[in-house]
Order: sequence, then structure tokens, then C-alpha cells
Amino acid sequence: MDEIPPDWDELGKAASVLGSAGKVFLDDSVSVVDIVKYFMEYVQAESCAECRPCPIGTKYLLDVLNLMGNGGEAPNDAVIQEVARTLKQGSKCGLGRVAGLVTEKLWQRFQDELKAYQEGQRPKTVAPNPGWQTIVG
Ligand code: SF4
Repeated sequence: MDEIPPDWDELGKAASVLGSAGKVFLDDSVSVVDIVKYFMEYVQAESCAECRPCPIGTKYLLDVLNLMGNGGEAPNDAVIQEVARTLKQGSKCGLGRVAGLVTEKLWQRFQDELKAYQEGQRPKTVAPNPGWQTIVG
């Protein structure tokens, strides 16, 4: 396989993209639910409305999180998973797809945080990635 020079034009011809990555460090005073809400608000503001899952799905999820923040009940898990799946598979670009992935992971991995958020409790500590000390140190 030929090597592709790392510039935008050549990568574009090869139907490839350069990725990006970042790490966000939060202390235990921050709820992961608030971070997801912030992200959903961002997607709402930036959505181009070219496809339906992104603006409608993220609005629905934002409403759900706001409702839970006021002590309301979350919809059935199956409904949330279906919204997440639709966002991931039906969105035309990464913005909507990532919103689906974020939703899926929030419900899969942070049920304790969702419950605490719903009950107005202080955010729980999110266990750090085991490798972070190595990175920071
Ligand atoms: S997923 Fe992308 S294309 Fe679809 S509405 Fe959102 S920003 Fe637009």
C-alpha cells in the first residue's frame, strides 16, 4: 500500500480524515450529567437540521435530562437506547452520531450519577482512568 502524505488534499483524495483527541479532567464536584447536558445544548446550537435525528433526538434528550434534574422520571431505558441508536445510525454527520454514542454510554455506565442527579444529590466521584496518573505525572 502506498504511503499517503499527511496533508488535507492527499487525505481527502484517499477518502480519509485526520482525527482529533482530547482529555477533559473534572473533579468530583462536576456531574457527568451536566457535561452531557452541555454537549446536547452545543449540538442543538450547532445542528444544521439537514437530517432529522440530530435536532429532534438531542432536543428530546435535553428535555429528558432537564426533567430528571427537576426530579422527574426518566423514560424507559429501551426508549433512550432507541433514540441513541437512531442518532448513531441515522445522523448524516459526526455531530449527531457522537450525541447518540454519548447518550448510550451515559445510560450504560452512569446510572448512579443519573439517579443522584434526579434526586438532587451531590455528584458522585467518577473513577479516574487508571492511566491518568502516568499522563499527569
Ligand atoms: S447530524 Fe450533522 S447533518 Fe445531521 S442535522 Fe446534525 S449537524 Fe446537520
